Amino acid sequence: MKTASNTIVNISYIIDCRHCGRHTEYATYAALSANDANDSEALMQRVDTECAIRCPACRSRLNITERDFREQVRAVRRV
Ligand SMILES: [Zn+2]
Repeated sequence: MKTASNTIVNISYIIDCRHCGRHTEYATYAALSANDANDSEALMQRVDTECAIRCPACRSRLNITERDFREQVRAVRRV
């Protein structure tokens, strides 16, 4: 069990929806390992296809595949 070492980090997903063209920002959080939490490069490389990320305008799911995520979503640290 390594869950104790995970850190909850506030992040934003910068969304570029290819279905409706909406460009927006979606505030959420991510459970990261201590190393990743302090490494903004690792955060930007992060790909999440487990929790559905949807466009707020057209409700299309943006992360069905890793490729969908990489093309439409970018994670940044929220301060
Ligand atoms: Zn959309």
